[in-house]
Amino acid sequence: MRVLVCGGAGYIGSNMTAVLVENGYETIVYDNLSKGHRKAVVDGAEFIHGDLADYDKLVETMTKYKIDAVMHFAALIEVGESMLDPLGFYYNNVSNTNNLLRAMEFCKVNRFVFSSSAAVYGMAQNKALQESSPKSPINSYGDSKLAVERMCHFQSQTGRLNYAAMRYFNACGAGNNCTLGEDHWPESHLIPLIIQAAMGKRDSIKIFGDDYPTPDGTCVRDYVHVEDLAQAHLLALEKLSSTTEQIYNLGNGKGYSVLEVIEAVKRVSGKDFKVVREKRRSGDPAFLTADSSKAQKELGWTPKVPDIDSIIESAWKWHNQNPDGYSD
Ligand code: UDP
Repeated sequence: MRVLVCGGAGYIGSNMTAVLVENGYETIVYDNLSKGHRKAVVDGAEFIHGDLADYDKLVETMTKYKIDAVMHFAALIEVGESMLDPLGFYYNNVSNTNNLLRAMEFCKVNRFVFSSSAAVYGMAQNKALQESSPKSPINSYGDSKLAVERMCHFQSQTGRLNYAAMRYFNACGAGNNCTLGEDHWPESHLIPLIIQAAMGKRDSIKIFGDDYPTPDGTCVRDYVHVEDLAQAHLLALEKLSSTTEQIYNLGNGKGYSVLEVIEAVKRVSGKDFKVVREKRRSGDPAFLTADSSKAQKELGWTPKVPDIDSIIESAWKWHNQNPDGYSD
């Protein structure tokens, strides 16, 4: 099967690409490198420097490589930024995905795996979210992901699209034997930021809000290893020929507060560093954890690295081996 991986030079997309290549799929990465890294694309995958806004290039690529399925990871992802630039988020995440889906329809490619997010749910009631839980995003990032899910839903009803929407919680860790890690610029994600503080690359780690209605007052998230996410995507891809719609939550089902993650990094790294309490960041729900039993039952997905210390160990290793990230 020939798979086009949009955003395959990014953090999750590059890990997906590595898993596809390892499993014998012909893999073509399509990425504009605005956020991704050319060096993160493993040998064995073809690389196309292209933008999702470029409909003609998408059609040309799908035709040239006789693409059978598309996996889509190319998106803006920072919640804080999504509150400052909603129009940019809808353009990148919704309009460009519309472009991609139209190119797929034109080329008669009908298998699509979409990187959605737990942010589609909005506020959770301190219990694990199921796929049927109410969807009411509280930031434009989550709303842009939900809009794409709706677009896929209605397109699937025409009979011209089989899709899987993977709603993952907090992707983290490093995959492909710790060679593919998290390197965003500017970095805004909790675990890489704490690791940078532990490495002495920043003065401190800031906690965004300690007055949430959670046990220690800081936000609770469900951290899931990036390679486990990629495996779930692969399982969904393999079911696409026979299933019109698949929607799955992907998480470990256990929440960790910001303070607990900081403690875990201190434990794993053996380093101490300064922790500063700041005001809340706009758009953050207090508590997000996944009930992933549907993915476990229907896809046979079992996370291989569910514990937070092992996840952080892999990230710690990658950051120490790549102190300046991919340096590109
Ligand atoms: N966070 C924090 N300090 C930081 C970065 C993040 O306290 O420097 C918090 C953030 O407010 C959220 C959690 O850590 O509650 C996870 O944030 P991240 O941006 O990693 O992922 P998100 O949950 O927004 O997808």
